[in-house]
Amino acid sequence: MTMQRHETIRKPAAPGDAPNLRDYDATRAAFDWADAEREIDWLPDGGLNLAYEAIDRHVAHGNGAKPAMLWEGKNGEKETYTYEEMRRESNRFANVLAALGVRKGDRVFTFMERVPEIYFAVFGALKAGCVAGPLFSAFGPDPVKDRLEDSGAKVLVTQPELRAKIAEVIPQLPELERVIVVNKNERSKEPLAPGDLDYGALMREASPDFALIGATRDDYSLMHYTSGTTGKPKGAVHRHNAVIQHYLTGKWCLDLRPSDVYWCTADPGWVTGTSYGMSAPWTNGVTQVIYEGGFNARKWWQILQDYNVNVWYTAPTAIRMLMKSGAGLPQTFDLSSLRFAASVGEPLNPEAVEWGVEAIGMPFHDNWWQTETGGIMIANYASADIRPGSMGKPLPGVHPGIIDAEGNELPDGKEGNLAVRAPWPSMFQTYWRQQERYDSRFVNGWYVTGDEAVRDADGYYWFIGRSDDVINTAGHLVGPFEVESALIEHPAVAEAGVIGKPDPIAMEVVKAFVSLKDGYEPSDALRRELTGFAREKLAAAVAPREIEIIPSLPKTRSGKIMRRLLKARELGLDEGDTSTLEED
Ligand code: AMP
Repeated sequence: MTMQRHETIRKPAAPGDAPNLRDYDATRAAFDWADAEREIDWLPDGGLNLAYEAIDRHVAHGNGAKPAMLWEGKNGEKETYTYEEMRRESNRFANVLAALGVRKGDRVFTFMERVPEIYFAVFGALKAGCVAGPLFSAFGPDPVKDRLEDSGAKVLVTQPELRAKIAEVIPQLPELERVIVVNKNERSKEPLAPGDLDYGALMREASPDFALIGATRDDYSLMHYTSGTTGKPKGAVHRHNAVIQHYLTGKWCLDLRPSDVYWCTADPGWVTGTSYGMSAPWTNGVTQVIYEGGFNARKWWQILQDYNVNVWYTAPTAIRMLMKSGAGLPQTFDLSSLRFAASVGEPLNPEAVEWGVEAIGMPFHDNWWQTETGGIMIANYASADIRPGSMGKPLPGVHPGIIDAEGNELPDGKEGNLAVRAPWPSMFQTYWRQQERYDSRFVNGWYVTGDEAVRDADGYYWFIGRSDDVINTAGHLVGPFEVESALIEHPAVAEAGVIGKPDPIAMEVVKAFVSLKDGYEPSDALRRELTGFAREKLAAAVAPREIEIIPSLPKTRSGKIMRRLLKARELGLDEGDTSTLEED
């Protein structure tokens, strides 16, 4: 199996507009986290607070009048907040919490759309010493209940329609003491449910000054629930110290510069939406675009144009959906401000990396990390050559390896478990109330990520799949990603998901599910054509034995194709926790 099927995309040796990380190898060799720690502002007592770093610090440095947030609502409403306004609003919310008797370490959850108030609430909670837990607004009652119950959240901040959606579970949560409702539409004010509090009224009375509740670097800051292969989702808990890595990766992996306008398409309900939708951009002092609406190809290009976005962080599914609408569309917009485009969350197929060059004049820079790592760990950098299909190279200061089941490191070119030497600044600190499960993720000083990967001789990491997704067919290990990437190259294929289907002879055979691009119809002839196409690209041992054409693939709410679910359906098994699935 050759790892590289596509041409390397070379970067100029000395770019005119030099990126933040100019020389990867030299920086990595000389790296010391203490240098990064000196670049941020510690509190006078030596403490560290993510909200202070992201917001107040810029005010203290004389940049309070700079716009921090350019918000556009789903109905075209617009609001702008400077760093000083963000400071005041988050202070107000910290005061609201303090007045309600909320104390250090209490969990404050949000269940909100991407409206400015979610940012004030999260930063306010962090200033008040609480653990903030943003929940994705598309969740239904059960996943919300599971998470609020497990975390023992004391306060929930939500909005009227979302409050109504989960009305039945609120009385079932004994630890939940307060529900604060943000009603952005003052004119159509619904009466509050008995016991609920009105955000607007509380905030009007709250002071814009707040003395931070002493935070040390080790105090818990944020928690995000993440689904495993088994059991209910578990709460990965982070600490304020993560801000060091958020800041550094914002600068080095996303090439953020203080004069930039930045757009991260992730929702704060997912870790990308907090680490890279709150912490990294604002600690780097940029102006951030927040768009409340969902995916729409034309609208997205419009946002990039209208806000003169310089740095854009998005996800492979979105990129593939943009590809579906064609490379001609972005060319009808003025995207001349765009300097850097990055992607995370699932494998980015090489065609998508290259499509960036065609459509927006630059490749998409894939990077790898996960809820538990808290920040970017492996990345393609502005200054470094890209091998399309690779996740890139480790962040300086982060030491991944490929290990076997016993925790022994494997040489270059050998597939195995992707692991990272513990610790690093943004490493998760526990799974909430599940310490044993947390401990089980570490072997021989390695954190085992649950992904399988391989490193090539030049230090690039290549994703293969989740460790439980890799297919063993007739003694050959086959990565579903590789097969999916091949299928996606066929002009009719929009998306592909590949699983191992049990087989009495070969142990498993490769089965592919594909959805088609607009204008293609399923047929036996097309299925045969795809089989032949894949065989030609991959050889019969690796190519799918079976291809099934389905209208769309099941995806998590954050857009990952759920091979697990395809497999469960194929085998007629219980489909497990589907709470992160997209709605039909
Ligand atoms: P989450 O914790 O939900 O952010 O999911 C993290 C998982 O998404 C990782 O363990 C990988 O399986 C997958 N993932 C994230 N980024 C990438 C990437 N760049 N390439 C391939 N898989 C990725």
